Amino acid sequence: MAERRAAAQRLSARIGEAVEPPPVPAIDDIALPRPRLEVPDSLTGWVSTTTAERVTHTYGGHSLELLKALRGDFDYPPDAVAHPNDEDELEATLAWCDRKGYATIPYGGGTSVVWGLNVPADAQAAVTIDLDNLNTVLEVDEVSRAARIRAGILGPDLEAALKPLDLTLRHFPQSFPWSTVGGWVATRSGGHYATNHTHIDDFVESTRMLTPKGWFESRRLPGSGAGPSPDRLVLGSEGTLGIITECWLRLQKRPVFRGTAGVTFGTWKNGCEAVREIVQAKLWPANLRILDPAEAEFSAGLSGGHALLIIGFESSEIAQDANIQAALAIARSHGGVVDDRDILVDDGAGKPTGRGGAVGAWRNAFIGVNAGLTAGLGLLADTFETAITWDRWPDFDAEVRERVGVALRGALGGARLSCRFTHVYPDGPAPYYSFSGIVPRGAEEERWRVVKDAATEAVVAAGGTVTHHHAVGRMHRAGWDVQRPALLGDLWRAAKRSVDPNGILNPGVLIDP
Ligand SMILES: Cc1cc2nc3c(=O)[nH]c(=O)nc-3n(C[C@H](O)[C@H](O)[C@H](O)COP(=O)(O)OP(=O)(O)OC[C@H]3O[C@@H](n4cnc5c(N)ncnc54)[C@H](O)[C@@H]3O)c2cc1C
Repeated sequence: MAERRAAAQRLSARIGEAVEPPPVPAIDDIALPRPRLEVPDSLTGWVSTTTAERVTHTYGGHSLELLKALRGDFDYPPDAVAHPNDEDELEATLAWCDRKGYATIPYGGGTSVVWGLNVPADAQAAVTIDLDNLNTVLEVDEVSRAARIRAGILGPDLEAALKPLDLTLRHFPQSFPWSTVGGWVATRSGGHYATNHTHIDDFVESTRMLTPKGWFESRRLPGSGAGPSPDRLVLGSEGTLGIITECWLRLQKRPVFRGTAGVTFGTWKNGCEAVREIVQAKLWPANLRILDPAEAEFSAGLSGGHALLIIGFESSEIAQDANIQAALAIARSHGGVVDDRDILVDDGAGKPTGRGGAVGAWRNAFIGVNAGLTAGLGLLADTFETAITWDRWPDFDAEVRERVGVALRGALGGARLSCRFTHVYPDGPAPYYSFSGIVPRGAEEERWRVVKDAATEAVVAAGGTVTHHHAVGRMHRAGWDVQRPALLGDLWRAAKRSVDPNGILNPGVLIDP
């Protein structure tokens, strides 16, 4: 509550009027529709219909969902929630759902921001299957550097299990503390500290998934050219084909050598050009992200209309001083300014030298993100993220800002729009736009829709993707339907029919039920 109060005070300062955070409803005060199913005796050990279970599995992590939860709006909860303890219990649960035709929603950490976990309004009944009890590292192959990991493990628990072996996955989505391996694979998550290896795809060696028709398991291979990759069907399947129970993921030694610096640029354009040259020089910094002047001011405390570029190198084997200096030389050649005292270098002793400057402030803002803090305060805040080839940038940026800006100004008071690159590739950046503004209470959903539709249409029309790493879910269906080859929809429906003939798995996600 203290954090919500502090967020309310910050908002009061921004809009010049007092804002009080609304109370969080008590579970006992929430009225749920009655469960529309009866759990067979054989499953009651791990399947429950309690209000607490149903309430806590109704929504993911999108700001409109948090707002609904805060208002006590739980019109479409799952009728039951399962927490299988092993694959036998999972098989029994899925067989029951399939027999009865219940909509079945796989659930990892519950951080979906694209409405990937909701019960469809027209489902006759729905069961959410939470993988939280399948949460261990089963095996580590230290020679090949890979581990067999159960899908329900959370990011910090995975890293804690690997640490004693001096190994790490180093896949850090911003939601790392609350999201799971299964969720990452199902949504093709994007990690940070990952200019080279960005999506979880790059780490997947093999997968194991339970479908209503049986098990789907791929062979562990470092690479293979044998026809279509089975893992490619699992990656990004978003719970529509089966329930991922485990994966072999590629690991690396924990880095000890680091080099980090923040560079300021007088213009956004110059900073973006520097980023392109650094990534095309194949220096592979672990972190290469640029914040436009609005974002640099808001989240890194910079003033004076400067863009901020954050560069970070890391390695388990090789000192990173030369790499950071090479990247900084490119940045300086594009007008970048860096104070040498702000270069932070760890030469492997765990005692970094240098100050770090604005990078630390930005890092704290990034890690401390909590969309729930502003829910219900009359502030609408959200993001949209995409990717585009360099040849279309910066025209893409100009077009998106123009179209979204018009929608924002019409929908929200005192609106802000800013951008950063969360990931960059040799052939293009992944821009991540944040917007916020004051909204009349009760009009949040309608105003959000105006801005979101404008963003989706602008991004797709200008040649980008409707999502770079947040997934499709139900939210991005319209954009994805336009962007993907039309026949991919037919192929996916055919694939789904063959493993999920009754269409129980996550109906409405990716394709129509
Ligand atoms: C504050 C915040 C920051 C975020 N930052 C990032 C980011 O940096 N990068 C990024 O990529 N995403 C980010 N996200 C989005 C989200 O965290 C990712 O999509 C993440 O991969 C979801 O993992 P999860 O375990 O929470 O899955 P859930 O949210 O529980 O599920 C996501 C989808 O996957 C399906 N699913 C989950 N587990 C399984 C399984 N075992 N088998 C089959 N299907 C399954 C679900 O049905 C659902 O459709 C962020 C979200 C929040 C709230």
